[in-house]
Amino acid sequence: MQPKDLLQLTEQFGSPIYVYDGEKIKSQYNRLTKAFSKVDNLRINYAMKALSNVAILQLLREMGSGLDTVSIQEVLLGLHAGYAPEKIFYTPNGVSLEEIEEVNAMGVQINIDNLSILEQFGAKHPDVPVCIRINPHVMAGGNTNISVGHIDSKFGISIHQLPHLVRIVENTKMNIVGIHMHTGSDILDIEVFLYAAEILFDAAKNFKDLEFLDFGSGFKVPYKKDDIETDIEELGKKLSKRFNAFCKEYGKELTLIFEPGKFLVSEAGSFLVKVNVIKQTTSTVFAGVDSGFNHLIRPMLYGSQHQIDNISNPKGKERFYSVVGYICETDTFANNRRIPEIKEGDILSFRNAGAYCYSMASNYNSRYRPAEVLWLNGQGHLIRAHETFEDLLRNQIPLPIEATV
Ligand SMILES: *Cc1c(COP(=O)(O)O)cnc(C)c1O
Repeated sequence: MQPKDLLQLTEQFGSPIYVYDGEKIKSQYNRLTKAFSKVDNLRINYAMKALSNVAILQLLREMGSGLDTVSIQEVLLGLHAGYAPEKIFYTPNGVSLEEIEEVNAMGVQINIDNLSILEQFGAKHPDVPVCIRINPHVMAGGNTNISVGHIDSKFGISIHQLPHLVRIVENTKMNIVGIHMHTGSDILDIEVFLYAAEILFDAAKNFKDLEFLDFGSGFKVPYKKDDIETDIEELGKKLSKRFNAFCKEYGKELTLIFEPGKFLVSEAGSFLVKVNVIKQTTSTVFAGVDSGFNHLIRPMLYGSQHQIDNISNPKGKERFYSVVGYICETDTFANNRRIPEIKEGDILSFRNAGAYCYSMASNYNSRYRPAEVLWLNGQGHLIRAHETFEDLLRNQIPLPIEATV
């Protein structure tokens, strides 16, 4: 996709707008499957919380992907997008036994991540095939917001509780078919990942009827210049070999599962905004745009640095800007960033806007959420319309007149 295509789509559909390059999503999917081509039974479950538009789900379904879901509503969206229940995994955290039972009744693979629910579920439904989420306590990255493998994480069953886990499984005679880990969003170091994988292999030996091992995700993609990205090809080579050797040892061809979100969709996304105002203070030049953290919260929430291009003036002389939103609260997208000269009315494009961007958007300040467009075969398809005033009023129930006096 070229900047001129982004500019044209912004003119056609209006700003602010999210645009996703379908070809990039496909090439990332193919890259991952190719890296693991030596594994006979590979399965990719797209972690749909990254970007849950139904059209994106359809595109990945056509590629052969399964889905990784974290709520019953995501399961419903997946079924709506045409996924067979057996292509859907459900990996919730902190949800009720009732919701887990409801999802199980839909024919979806459930993944349980605490001993309390495991024991209750196993006692009631000993025959249901269940996956268990292990926490190997491996720190990947260093930011406690995204590293979920550390000792005080709320995710997964601690590997140190394995004896208790095994006892529950024996007592309930429940049917454990898979073991899962997901150590967080930042795999900088393949050796760290392989180390966590060894812990999973060790744990797997305690269960006789496994069908799959699920290594979660956490593949890192570059956000800004010089960022490190996970070397998928290298990981594929090393982990495939180790996985195949483990299957021999275990005595059965298991399925290897990954559940990438960011890796598949992050780089495919661009977020396009219009510059409303250029404002100079004593120290700073602000570019105020027609958006805010209501549409893209990652810079404020995680300190993420999304590269910003001025696609209206790509060859302009670079100057320093702080790019801010229109929310009545501090909503800085970029601080003191070098960007080709910006004029009011220019269109700025944020890169890496595919994952955890639209899916985290809100109506704060009673602003409409943006539209979404999917670019396929050289053509833009509107896959979500801009919101309208009706959307803001939906489900609101005004007080009857007599109650207000
Ligand atoms: C969020 C999540 C993923 C996807 O993580 P990415 O970093 O986006 O690849 C995978 N598995 C589970 C259980 C998750 O919660």
